[in-house]
Amino acid sequence: MAHDGIIYLDHAATSWPKPPEVLDAMARALGPAGGNPHRSAHRLALEAARLVLEARSTVAAFLGVRDPRDLLFVPGCTFGLNMVLKGLLAPGDRVVVSSVEHNAVARPLAALAASGVEVVQMPVDEAGRVDLDAAEELVAEAPTRAVVCQHASNVTGAIQPVADLADIAHEHGAVLVADGAQAAGHLKVDLAELGADAYVASGHKGLLGPQGIGVVYLSPGLEVRELVQGGSGGDSGALSMPVVRPDRYEAGTPPVPAIAGLAAGVAVLGREADELFEQEQRIARRLLEGLAAIPGMRVLGPVLGEERAPVVSVVHEEVEPDRLAYELDSRYGVAVRAGLHCAPAAHAAMGTAETGAVRFSVGRGVTEADVDAAVEAVREVCLA
Ligand code: PLP
Repeated sequence: MAHDGIIYLDHAATSWPKPPEVLDAMARALGPAGGNPHRSAHRLALEAARLVLEARSTVAAFLGVRDPRDLLFVPGCTFGLNMVLKGLLAPGDRVVVSSVEHNAVARPLAALAASGVEVVQMPVDEAGRVDLDAAEELVAEAPTRAVVCQHASNVTGAIQPVADLADIAHEHGAVLVADGAQAAGHLKVDLAELGADAYVASGHKGLLGPQGIGVVYLSPGLEVRELVQGGSGGDSGALSMPVVRPDRYEAGTPPVPAIAGLAAGVAVLGREADELFEQEQRIARRLLEGLAAIPGMRVLGPVLGEERAPVVSVVHEEVEPDRLAYELDSRYGVAVRAGLHCAPAAHAAMGTAETGAVRFSVGRGVTEADVDAAVEAVREVCLA
């Protein structure tokens, strides 16, 4: 449904509009629950502490995390991925990673490579999916500390075989780190089943929370070096961080309003997810079909009928992505994202490193009428 005259198809960048429950929860966290959690003992601080405790349980339950203490609040998915990768890997370690990662993975790994971590890339097929046979061969080739892969691509929408990669990793004594930025809140994520040892997600995308919050799941046996040290509200006499979770990984005053908003978004998903995910899939299929039918249009990633996250990126043989996105916004009020989507490697794999693409992404609130109007607008721009 159009909001404020905007047909919003940029949910892969951030979900919008946020459910009213998210705004209300954030206001509460700045008002009656506005103290500093786990520090002072007055009622405002206790309310804040209660809020954070309940929020952790809500998000953990939604993602299938059995013990909420294994679910850590961090400032965002990028921060979380840096925390896991830099906390896990040391010079001399070997890591096997997909060749289509977002820069939130690719750049920390490039920084680690510069300090002596060996980074080996797994190839993908024409739809951008990791080739499991090649992955197995690469992991078996030499002692490997970690296999790293996105759960779903922000460019192609391809869903990666994370559970199979986890099996491969475990068979060879490695851990599996997954980037769930585009999966959490759009696909069913059950971390009790998936097999990932570490899973990182944005709070502000499919999980419907505000910007400034993300989550890291660390499986019970897996500890990484914490990226940040500081106050934790307890054990203050020691110069080292507490060893208990989540304290070890959450130094400093937590972003309580953002945590409250995230929990409220996830509570909405808890009620709606089954129907919502189905609806997003249906609408993304309709979008894909409509865009693919426009002469001169190429759709990246899995073809119609194959599974994908609700992301559809396209390139037109005549209209540059930037111009298409600009025309859609300025003339039709359709919000999409053009360019490389912070994932040049994924574009390289698709042969669109030079041009980039226009990405349409579906989320809560997007209707069939919205995507029909967007497709019609694209048709008008491209066929003018
Ligand atoms: N990984 C993927 C696949 C993404 O699409 C994004 C954001 O677009 C990120 C990681 C980083 O998320 P954030 O910008 O919320 O830190």
